[in-house]
Amino acid sequence: MTKRVAIIGAGPSGLAQLRAFQSAKEKGADIPEVVCFEKQSNWGGLWNYTWRTGLDQYGEPVHGSMYRYLWSNGPKEGLEFADYSFEEHFGKQIASYPPRAVLFDYIEGRVKKAGVRDLIRFETAVRSVEETDDGKFTVKVKDLPGDNEYEEVFDYVVCASGHFSTPNVPEFEGFDSFKGRVLHAHDFRDALEFKDMDLLLIGTSYSAEDIGSQCWKYGAKSITVSHRTAAMGYDWPDNWAEVPLLLKVDGNTAHFKDGTSRKVDAIILCTGYQHHFPFMADNLCLRTANRLATANLYKGVAWIDNPNLFYLGMQDQWFTFNMFDAQAWWARDVMLGRIALPDRATMLADVEERVAREDAGEDDYDAIWYQGDYVKELIAETDYPSFDLEGACQAFKEWKGHKKKNIMTFRDNGYKSVITGTMAPKHHTPWKDALDDSLEVYLQN
Ligand SMILES: Cc1cc2nc3c(=O)[nH]c(=O)nc-3n(C[C@H](O)[C@H](O)[C@H](O)COP(=O)(O)OP(=O)(O)OC[C@H]3O[C@@H](n4cnc5c(N)ncnc54)[C@H](O)[C@@H]3O)c2cc1C
Repeated sequence: MTKRVAIIGAGPSGLAQLRAFQSAKEKGADIPEVVCFEKQSNWGGLWNYTWRTGLDQYGEPVHGSMYRYLWSNGPKEGLEFADYSFEEHFGKQIASYPPRAVLFDYIEGRVKKAGVRDLIRFETAVRSVEETDDGKFTVKVKDLPGDNEYEEVFDYVVCASGHFSTPNVPEFEGFDSFKGRVLHAHDFRDALEFKDMDLLLIGTSYSAEDIGSQCWKYGAKSITVSHRTAAMGYDWPDNWAEVPLLLKVDGNTAHFKDGTSRKVDAIILCTGYQHHFPFMADNLCLRTANRLATANLYKGVAWIDNPNLFYLGMQDQWFTFNMFDAQAWWARDVMLGRIALPDRATMLADVEERVAREDAGEDDYDAIWYQGDYVKELIAETDYPSFDLEGACQAFKEWKGHKKKNIMTFRDNGYKSVITGTMAPKHHTPWKDALDDSLEVYLQN
């Protein structure tokens, strides 16, 4: 009987899994029946922008954490699909830091070409995944518009539901009487809302760096970023300050650990996200820190306690789209019986070795090469087109150098594609002046 695969989520990771199966089929393989469940009404995951926050029209938690004027925070040369270049999609090479709408278009282009949309049941939220007595999985879902729950049985489950959607929300003294808005980065959408304001951001993640930069670009009066351990340390503009941990707010005055204080109009918590899988049975539920070597996943993908379950994209991410591809091709080949899994002890040792190797790394450069090596390792075991991973790591290294040099101009640099070898052209407008970042304007020559 034909085996059945359930994919949870049609973001870049779930779409990578669909494309991986379609690619095998194209080459003549017999593939299982694949069903992808996506709770949103369109594909693209976080790249499928929504203005909504809180709950959606069906009362489901809104998945989206992306904001209106988001541009890629790393060079596109580090994430390019090896089987679908930017040049193939746009008919020309484009600049290195595309805005969200441009990347969405690119992600969508590959899966449109692959013709996999019919395999996705949109507006269908996975409610539970449980093991059956005969080693399969019962997946219960809710068809949201139909207000109808049903369940189906699958031989394999691929969880690709992302991990930048359920926020960590700390509490600070005085928040309940603060006279402005307090929000988490998950609910941040439009920088113009904070024009002319004195803004406090808590955290030193990408969110703090990027949301702060956006608000600066769109006219915030000042940006103050509070850190727990270390400042980000970039050469910030004059109206930007980094301060130690927030102790409390009193009215509109924020007090910090070094005894200083500032009046602020709004507070954005850039305090990260949780790996959150409320639909997974306890014995199948990934519990991991946001790091490069995830807990309990052989090769960072196969659930050791039942390797018919796979998790994609659960690592902290330097590499994104091409890493999800590498994982999806690898998981596909396990499901197709092309890759044999070792015994449990060997799989556990694999996880420990990855954790120890990551822990031995000293800086971000070690982390970039660690993840680059990981992607290379997976690709070598499948027929995913190999590409110059060393070149991609070098692009990340240059990117970090450009950020250190000037955090507000790093996006004006270009890098060479490791897929086609073409150099990215300079964008027609510096990032800080490009207020209209629509696809049409971005792609103008
Ligand atoms: C603010 C922000 C900025 C980022 N910027 C960049 C960037 O510039 N460059 C970059 O490469 N990466 C960036 N990322 C990283 C991002 O994680 C990846 O690019 C990518 O979106 C991850 O893909 P994914 O498919 O694993 O997860 P997601 O994109 O999160 O997709 C998961 C999908 O699963 C669906 N889903 C979740 N739960 C269920 C359920 N119960 N039932 C059915 N469907 C479900 C969701 O609706 C969603 O469509 C950014 C992330 C954030 C939060």
